Amino acid sequence: MSNAPYENTRAFALACDERDPLASFRDKFHLPKQASGDAYLYFVGHSLGLQPRTARGYVEQELKDWEMLAVEGHFKGKNPWMPYHEYLTDQLATIVGGQPGEVVAMNTLTVNLHLMMVSFYRPTPERHKILIEGTAFPSDKYAVASQAAFHGYDAAESVIQLDPRAGEDTIRAEDIEELLEREGGSIALIMLGGVNYLTGQAFDMARITELGHRHGCTVGFDLAHAAGNLILNLHDWDVDFAVWCSYKYLNGGPGCVGGAFVHGRHAESDLPRFAGWWGQDKQTRFAMPSGFTATPGAEGWQLSNPPILPLASLRASLEIFEAAGLAQLRKKSESLTGYLAFLLQETVGEHITLITPADKAQRGAQLSFRVKRDGASVYERISASGVLCDWREPDVIRVAPIPLYTSFEDVHQFVSLFGKAVKAR
Ligand SMILES: *Cc1c(COP(=O)(O)O)cnc(C)c1O
Repeated sequence: MSNAPYENTRAFALACDERDPLASFRDKFHLPKQASGDAYLYFVGHSLGLQPRTARGYVEQELKDWEMLAVEGHFKGKNPWMPYHEYLTDQLATIVGGQPGEVVAMNTLTVNLHLMMVSFYRPTPERHKILIEGTAFPSDKYAVASQAAFHGYDAAESVIQLDPRAGEDTIRAEDIEELLEREGGSIALIMLGGVNYLTGQAFDMARITELGHRHGCTVGFDLAHAAGNLILNLHDWDVDFAVWCSYKYLNGGPGCVGGAFVHGRHAESDLPRFAGWWGQDKQTRFAMPSGFTATPGAEGWQLSNPPILPLASLRASLEIFEAAGLAQLRKKSESLTGYLAFLLQETVGEHITLITPADKAQRGAQLSFRVKRDGASVYERISASGVLCDWREPDVIRVAPIPLYTSFEDVHQFVSLFGKAVKAR
């Protein structure tokens, strides 16, 4: 798999696939089928990752234990349910660059974001602001605004939105620094996406955390589009907390269990939290004490006993990540996304504007671009030709080549169909 120079030929794409050490991983997934029986060209792994072929077996094992053992499955199942979430911890810790005690699979993303903010957003009259991206995913905007309001602050004043400069699409690092210099003293919480869902811009989380802490802010990240996509080092970066979902790049399945990271510095803290029995100290959980004592670390933020069936399908996917190796995945991802960027430029360069940064350090597997004219009709045509990709009003298309299951040939075919759709407009 060579990097540049790329070539705009199918033969070149096939040769890249031939040399790709991860090429066989595609066969570990079900590729969705069109009515004709042909597989879709799937470029929406940023919305819902594909089903690992092993997922069914993992789920069936737990259905079987439920069938045969019922309540005894908690202790006597092949994979006892009592500690089931713990089976995922090491692999999730690797994916986000945390230590095992810092990571837990629980709830869903927005729920975890609220739970984390209960503990880590502690506004005071002098320092009550929350910094987010102007183009943050709506759920994150609702979550931060409602947290500010919950503490009696006016969200219009307390939520600061970080936007690109006029005429630009992504946020400049120096603008983040400048904003923190100016307003850092009034910011309680920096809560950014690791990768912005719309533009695909990956932020320098290490630098933002360092700057934020220098200004006395707490720093958390929403890793919905970063987990399973970028190489993350949350522990070393000293991030306070992070949350993610597992149905996008992590292929856990629709609505699958999300995750949270709490830095070890806070493992035994007495920060306020919303508590539930699953966060109670494991030694005494079943003694059902009347007072709550948290299990140290991220697990202490759990509320409920977790849903085993989605954890089972997520486990199937995490095994695949482990077998592929994150460094190798990221290497292929850079090459694959680079190839997509190259072909788009070559084929339809004058008809689109790439809004994802060109620098590979500032992006993951996703490219977003504006279609200069009649984007909606281009999107309709490309969809009718067996491609699944994503459209955001008024003119943005988001495509994600996924290193686990997208081939260089897929990328070549996508751009050639896209070129036809643009010309047919
Ligand atoms: C996908 C996504 C969500 C979805 O939240 P859920 O609670 O999992 O439904 C939230 N925030 C971001 C940034 C996302 O990309």
